[in-house]
Amino acid sequence: MDFNLPENTRAIRDLVREFSQKKIEPIAAKIDRDDEFPVQIFREMGKLGLLGLTIAEEYGGAGLDYLTEGVALEEISYYSGSFGLSYGAHNNLVVDSIYRNANNEQKERYLPGLVSGERIGSLCLTEPGAGSDALGGMKTVYELKGGGYEINGSKTFITNAPLADIFLVYARNGKSYSAFILERRDGVETPRKIKKLGMRGSPTGEVVFRNVHVGGERVLKGEGHGRSIIYNGLNAERAVLAFGPLGIARRALDEAIGYSNQREQFGRKIGEFELIQEKLAYMFTRLEAARLLAYKAAFLVTEKISDPSYAAASIMMASETATQIAKEALQIFGGYGYTEDYPLERLLRDAILYEIGAGTTEIRKIVIGKALLKR
Ligand SMILES: Cc1cc2nc3c(=O)[nH]c(=O)nc-3n(C[C@H](O)[C@H](O)[C@H](O)COP(=O)(O)OP(=O)(O)OC[C@H]3O[C@@H](n4cnc5c(N)ncnc54)[C@H](O)[C@@H]3O)c2cc1C
Repeated sequence: MDFNLPENTRAIRDLVREFSQKKIEPIAAKIDRDDEFPVQIFREMGKLGLLGLTIAEEYGGAGLDYLTEGVALEEISYYSGSFGLSYGAHNNLVVDSIYRNANNEQKERYLPGLVSGERIGSLCLTEPGAGSDALGGMKTVYELKGGGYEINGSKTFITNAPLADIFLVYARNGKSYSAFILERRDGVETPRKIKKLGMRGSPTGEVVFRNVHVGGERVLKGEGHGRSIIYNGLNAERAVLAFGPLGIARRALDEAIGYSNQREQFGRKIGEFELIQEKLAYMFTRLEAARLLAYKAAFLVTEKISDPSYAAASIMMASETATQIAKEALQIFGGYGYTEDYPLERLLRDAILYEIGAGTTEIRKIVIGKALLKR
């Protein structure tokens, strides 16, 4: 057993780290404060080949695996959780899903622009009345009309929607679910950007479809395959997104160690107090355990071993760990942690999202429980 990352994964990690240090770190607080996504930096990542890590080279991608994509997400999230979230939604939820499910014509039409960063993607599944029960509660409908399809309905909580050019949209016709690749110019409306506790700068919005008409060439995998596209993609989605909270957690731990070595009370560095050491030990142990699980889940997905318990456990562990570590780190900073002068409060606000977005902690527990009982 080898705990070192493969060479090409390390190379991407170093490239993303260097890029994020230079371009994202200096504006991370501003991204949060202004709640504005730095589109230009996103496009620069496209030019560096970082927006299509799992996509074949013929479509402009890097042809790498899910572990590498996860490691890249961890690095970005270390510097900005919200940039990481938008990166993950674009790369994994949209680009990788199109790559896995599209026919050649669709791939040629959509992947190069998404991989280069010229076009931004968003995945539209959740609706006002359909969150955890995304399929059962879905009210967005499609019907056959004029030799194509007409889509009506609305979605909410959609990452990147306010800026997106491409919308991967799930809709139903009775018991049949289908996935459509829609473009903004098809008439997709994004009437509202939603204000949030954290992940500010990752634009979240509502999406509305009013008689949006498209041809059959926009259906992913053919009509009626929506359910299988969702279920087949869940493991990859969870396994990759788990690295977002890992990045936030690692940053919080590093901040806490730095502060413990510097802040003095009672004439001593606070790191000399055993209650502070206990916190650091707990944070380190949780983070390392979460990362090992994340590596394993990413490995299993890459090997196409479809056991949902690992991917769900990985993102559950990573997201709970990030919230706990960010909270402990904030505590180590005392009153300063509670201010906007330090990044701790942002880290905590950002971390909490991962216990809700891409499926809640509760749903992940149900997925794990059911998978174990089937063994
Ligand atoms: C910032 C952000 C970004 C997002 N990005 C996207 C995106 O890009 N695309 C997209 O489609 N969606 C996105 N989402 C939506 C996200 O996936 C949903 O919010 C999530 O699935 C939960 O749905 P809900 O909010 O409707 O909560 P609900 O499903 O209404 O759940 C409410 C509570 O009930 C619990 N609950 C529900 N069912 C059960 C059950 N069977 N057993 C026990 N407890 C249960 C939940 O765990 C939760 O605690 C995003 C959300 C946020 C906040």
